[in-house]
Amino acid sequence: MKRLDSEILVIGGGIVGSAAALALARAGRRVAVLERDLCGARSSGINYGGVRRQGRAAVQLPLAQRAHHIWSGLRELIGIDGEYVRSGHFKLARSAADMQALEAYAELSRPYGLDIELISGERLRRQCPWLGGAVMGGSLCPEDGQANPRLVSPAFARAATAAGAAVLEGCEVLQAGHDGSAFVLEARHGGQALQARAAVLINCAGAWAGKLAAAFGEDVPMTSGHPSMAVTEPIPHFLPWSLGVEGGSIYCRQVARGNVVLGGGRGYVLDADRARASHDSILGLLPQAVELLPALRHVQIIRTWSGVEGYLPDRQPVLGPSATQAGLFHGFGFCGAGFQIGPAAGEALAELVLRARSPVPLDAFSISRFNAVAADASSHPLVPERKIS
Ligand SMILES: Cc1cc2nc3c(=O)[nH]c(=O)nc-3n(C[C@H](O)[C@H](O)[C@H](O)COP(=O)(O)OP(=O)(O)OC[C@H]3O[C@@H](n4cnc5c(N)ncnc54)[C@H](O)[C@@H]3O)c2cc1C
Repeated sequence: MKRLDSEILVIGGGIVGSAAALALARAGRRVAVLERDLCGARSSGINYGGVRRQGRAAVQLPLAQRAHHIWSGLRELIGIDGEYVRSGHFKLARSAADMQALEAYAELSRPYGLDIELISGERLRRQCPWLGGAVMGGSLCPEDGQANPRLVSPAFARAATAAGAAVLEGCEVLQAGHDGSAFVLEARHGGQALQARAAVLINCAGAWAGKLAAAFGEDVPMTSGHPSMAVTEPIPHFLPWSLGVEGGSIYCRQVARGNVVLGGGRGYVLDADRARASHDSILGLLPQAVELLPALRHVQIIRTWSGVEGYLPDRQPVLGPSATQAGLFHGFGFCGAGFQIGPAAGEALAELVLRARSPVPLDAFSISRFNAVAADASSHPLVPERKIS
């Protein structure tokens, strides 16, 4: 059996775990990441690529603002720009009620500095000849943007390695426990058994993190979500913003090469680890896309996909120390919005390890909020799509 002794172990090499390892390695700590696949192979590398603060719950905005600063220095941090552009994120209103919701959000988010600008339907019709369908107006967050997740997320893991972290890919953690003096993980790496030990353990296992939390007596009501995604062949550039619609039925962005990335509707699970876009969701998405962006008529879809993301009933992540085991920290359950916030979540986890606190308020993300859930499941009416086994 192989052995690995470290100061800190991180389970999961998605954007959150890799960002945490990077921050810890840069602080001079001995840290190892155990990733069962390739780093960034799951949600972090296959998501839509929206780097948006607009639309987030107020409790997430301090963390999202911090992430916003990190994204601005991405090249210095991870060595590539990851096709990150501050294109603006525009949310469209199709009814007066939608517009009111956008106005209310602009007001709510004002103290956090998102600088959201409300745009009337008349101005949109004048300025955006590429926009089709009924448009009441919308809200633009000019410094929100988009990036290529396939480039960005693995680059966080490479930067962590360059900073001194040990990153073990193809290393699945099968069992986790604490023997009274250290965390002990039983894993398989390169076809061989591996035992890893450390004083600190960070659980960044994404949609699969619930099983690890349960190993330490913390049951969280995790479910999984599977957004359907599609991408078109490249066409001449016409779409300046990353675009969403109030109510959330469709979102789209155009990359520099000309392909339009579309998201909306739900996919289905293939097994515990994989999901696919459903035919129904893609067939529902396409007429909406053409109505919204007439330039997409007759354009070919070249690929569809989905992924597995972890949801908690209140749609907030778990980010902070364990309530049952000293030295254990959790960072998971980022729902459909962990790509933007992931780098800041990783840094916050590193701060908790290094200094036992983070300047960013994390109370709303405490794992202990689910103690009450077990007693009163009816207080969270969200119907689970699928329980993570
Ligand atoms: C299709 C799709 C579109 C999305 N669009 C956006 C978007 O536009 N903007 C946005 O902000 N967010 C988006 N998201 C959400 C975002 O991708 C996730 O919230 C974020 O990537 C979560 O990062 P993570 O590091 O927590 O999880 P992951 O990327 O899932 O990483 C967790 C890692 O843990 C590993 N792991 C699990 N169990 C073990 C184990 N036992 N041993 C070792 N390793 C293990 C997994 O292999 C995985 O690599 C989208 C998600 C999907 C699926």
